[in-house]
Amino acid sequence: MDTAAPRDDDAPCPCGRGGSFGALTFARCCGRWTGPGAPPAPDAESLMRSRYSAYVRGDGTHVTATWDPLTRPGDLDLDGGPQWLGLQVLDAGDDGVEQGHAAAHVEFVATYRGADGRVHRMHERSRFTRRGERWFYVDGDVT
Ligand SMILES: [Zn+2]
Repeated sequence: MDTAAPRDDDAPCPCGRGGSFGALTFARCCGRWTGPGAPPAPDAESLMRSRYSAYVRGDGTHVTATWDPLTRPGDLDLDGGPQWLGLQVLDAGDDGVEQGHAAAHVEFVATYRGADGRVHRMHERSRFTRRGERWFYVDGDVT
């Protein structure tokens, strides 16, 4: 289904965390929560950022592994997806407990170059749920 993620762990993290003072490297940012044996992301925003970075890096394994089993697509193919250009997190917070699980949301804008060659903005409010120690992406509303 997917290939191994490229080993550019010392490059600036695709999620852009660190800002104008110098983005964190992937290894020190989303890479901490990505890959076999990695500890769970500590909060929904960190998980969301790691998922964005996985989309950029073509790491379908991480995207799938962090998707709520109840809403996860049966077959995920990142090939042919858009070229992701950047991420801006607008808001993130906890939403209490829903159906016995901690819930949280992250609102973000991701920019990408579409098949038409133009730059587009995707504005989404994503929902996350925590099962045990791990946060999972549930779904999102695109505005
Ligand atoms: Zn990152």
